[in-house]
Amino acid sequence: MIEIVEKSKCTGCTACMNICPKGAISFKEGKDGFKYPVIDQDKCIDCGLCKRTCPILNTKKNESINKCYVGYNKDSNERLNASSGSIFSLIANYILDNNGIVVGAVFDDNNHLKHIAIDKKEDLDPLRKSKYLQSDLDNIFKYIKEQLKSRKVLFVGTPCQVAGLKAFIKNNDNLLTIDLFCHGVPSPKLFKKYIKELEDNNNDKILNYDFRDNSTGWDSYSNKVTFKNKEVVTDRRKNEYMKLFLSDIALRESCYHCNFKLGNKYSDITLGDFWGIKNHYPEMYNKEGVSAIIINTDLGIEVFHNIKDNLEYKDCELDKIVCGNPSLKVSSKRPNKRDDFFNELDNTSVIDLTKKYERKVSFLRKVKNKIKSIIK
Ligand SMILES: Cc1cc2nc3c(=O)[nH]c(=O)nc-3n(C[C@H](O)[C@H](O)[C@H](O)COP(=O)(O)OP(=O)(O)OC[C@H]3O[C@@H](n4cnc5c(N)ncnc54)[C@H](O)[C@@H]3O)c2cc1C
Ligand code: SF4
Ligand code: SF4
Ligand code: SF4
Repeated sequence: MIEIVEKSKCTGCTACMNICPKGAISFKEGKDGFKYPVIDQDKCIDCGLCKRTCPILNTKKNESINKCYVGYNKDSNERLNASSGSIFSLIANYILDNNGIVVGAVFDDNNHLKHIAIDKKEDLDPLRKSKYLQSDLDNIFKYIKEQLKSRKVLFVGTPCQVAGLKAFIKNNDNLLTIDLFCHGVPSPKLFKKYIKELEDNNNDKILNYDFRDNSTGWDSYSNKVTFKNKEVVTDRRKNEYMKLFLSDIALRESCYHCNFKLGNKYSDITLGDFWGIKNHYPEMYNKEGVSAIIINTDLGIEVFHNIKDNLEYKDCELDKIVCGNPSLKVSSKRPNKRDDFFNELDNTSVIDLTKKYERKVSFLRKVKNKIKSIIK
């Protein structure tokens, strides 16, 4: 099989599939549950466009402005309905008010996460909040290209997805992009297995999975599962899926050597949680959510200017954001047992996988953390 880029480096951004003039590239699921491009040799005319477009093979250093803010949406209900400070919703509403479309990640009825486009405010709700698995982009880039001819498009995704879109579209004044702080995306196969086991164990159908239920506090958020007949809220630290996510065991291979950290940003605006806010800007802390906002381009500045009246915000230093979010600069470490984990995934329950593969915090580390928090 001919590869466009080494499988371990491919982010699955779909730029190659979208650019191919012969429709020779499709995506197939690998053993780890992530999708990878496959070339149909009978259709390929060897034009090389896919290789010239791939953002991994054509990495370029982007100059970015790095204007940083700590901030949050003034409306506390909006923050409760978001992961962090609900900045995404403010920008999305600004684009929708200007007759644009917004493209973000939503679950379909089969708990499959994919990017879709909306053009009405009443359809915004399912796009909100972080979903901790890789979202399927399918052919959305081609649709975005069509829409850009006549209106503004806001695309939100992981940094590698934004890099893929930018590689496909090149420059377009109608395109606004937001990428998220990202230490990696877990396998959709793991999530589907987890959902199936939850449904079987509860003998009930899941209608919605909320990774960021901030009603227990933004910095002590829970996971909320809405079954057909009940709701179950679990502390994220006790939730099997979140334990595996935060152990980095089930991330895409490309996440362990990510090309899209600070210094190589393709988006206009980068958003994340402002972890550690109490140490740096305690006056900005609130229990519904606080965002770290990094503006990378002039367009990002313009958009920020247009939404800022609906924000509480303050200038801040980049180092203070990185302090609580080191993954902005460094990739997650690949656990030695990642291959063993995926070899066992098909035949072992998620509960047993968690017992075996979650990152255990040593007693000494727990004591050190406790002392640190008391000192702080
Ligand atoms: C996989 C993942 C890992 C993250 N890791 C970190 C981290 O380590 N540190 C940190 O501070 N922040 C991280 N974030 C970002 C953070 O959780 C919030 O998404 C961000 O702060 C925006 O919050 P908000 O309140 O402004 O918007 P929200 O209302 O929460 O909107 C979130 C936006 O992200 C999009 N989105 C959700 N899930 C996905 C997905 N899987 N793929 C692509 N787009 C998606 C939604 O469509 C929506 O547009 C991560 C997000 C994701 C999706
Ligand atoms: S070389 Fe050209 S035709 Fe072949 S897969 Fe790549 S883009 Fe498609
Ligand atoms: S363009 Fe994206 S999906 Fe295609 S090979 Fe490169 S990284 Fe992978
Ligand atoms: S860590 Fe890097 S490669 Fe992995 S999903 Fe995030 S941006 Fe993409």
